[in-house]
Amino acid sequence: MTKVLVATDKPFAAIAVKGIREVVEGAGYELALLEKYTDKAQLLDAVKDANAVIIRSDIIDAPVLDAAKELKIVVRAGAGYDNVDLAAATAHNVCVMNTPGQNSNAVAELVFGMLVYAVRNFYNGTSGTELMGKKLGILAYGNVGRNVARIAKGFGMDVYAYDAFCPAEVIEKDGVKAVASTADLFKACQIVSLHIPATAETKGSINFELMNSMPKGAIVVNTARKEVIDEAGLAKMLEERPDFKYITDIKPAIDADLAAKYPDRYFGTPKKMGAQTAEANINAGIAAAKQIVDFLQNGNEKFRVNK
Ligand code: NAD
Repeated sequence: MTKVLVATDKPFAAIAVKGIREVVEGAGYELALLEKYTDKAQLLDAVKDANAVIIRSDIIDAPVLDAAKELKIVVRAGAGYDNVDLAAATAHNVCVMNTPGQNSNAVAELVFGMLVYAVRNFYNGTSGTELMGKKLGILAYGNVGRNVARIAKGFGMDVYAYDAFCPAEVIEKDGVKAVASTADLFKACQIVSLHIPATAETKGSINFELMNSMPKGAIVVNTARKEVIDEAGLAKMLEERPDFKYITDIKPAIDADLAAKYPDRYFGTPKKMGAQTAEANINAGIAAAKQIVDFLQNGNEKFRVNK
């Protein structure tokens, strides 16, 4: 019987697993669960006879793919798939998918939770500022970026965006001002929200020069990936610009140092919280299960990322 494994070091909510089970068993497949595993050997053992695997931030590398002799598809329930070795998956003839858009609203709402916290001076009792009328720059107008734009308009913000692959017309259709480059976005906007994936081009790309070009009272909010930040540049920026704040859902390696030095200007969520809502959990988990069924039954590869 076709076996679908849910391998989650950080498990889905029970209600999400129930939804996944309904989809998988409804298609006549067997569901296996490996949750909160403490040792990679458990994952290597569990994938042995799996035809499909649903993961979250779990690492799927060459040793896992070597062990998974029956594997046809891995679906990362979520957006970022930098935890999967795509080249190794392609070499093993395994299709890799993500579930784009399923957690975007959750991440976008967190951006504003953190932004209000930042402009109100981390709730330290002093007078802060409002978001209304401020220039917000959205770096990458993908699923999360679009939700950030929608919410920002509700706050009455002046919204700008740059995306290397999304045409300006698409951005402007949403009432958002398209700028020509990342550099232009940072120069124009007091607040910049990062929504780029971690790729060869973006890694370390948010550097001192970019951040230092921002207007006075600058805030960078990162719910994307820690790798996109040049950490030495971030440390320099916090040191040289006492008006600058950095708030992040993905802590840099120098988190403890920055938190100790700049308790009123640096904040990192204790754990990655962006997609941690009941709704995102359910949406992404069920979408992953449906994509697996559609792939195995109909060959649908719409969300394939290792083309
Ligand atoms: P998405 O794929 O929908 O959008 C990414 C956008 O980035 C695309 O529009 C693409 O054109 C653009 N892009 C790619 N390279 C670029 C570059 N060099 N310069 C400018 N734009 C570029 O992804 P998404 O769902 O919007 O997610 C965005 C980011 O948020 C990803 O890094 C993802 O890993 C991260 N994320 C984090 C959490 C969390 O829990 N904090 C949850 C979901 C997503």
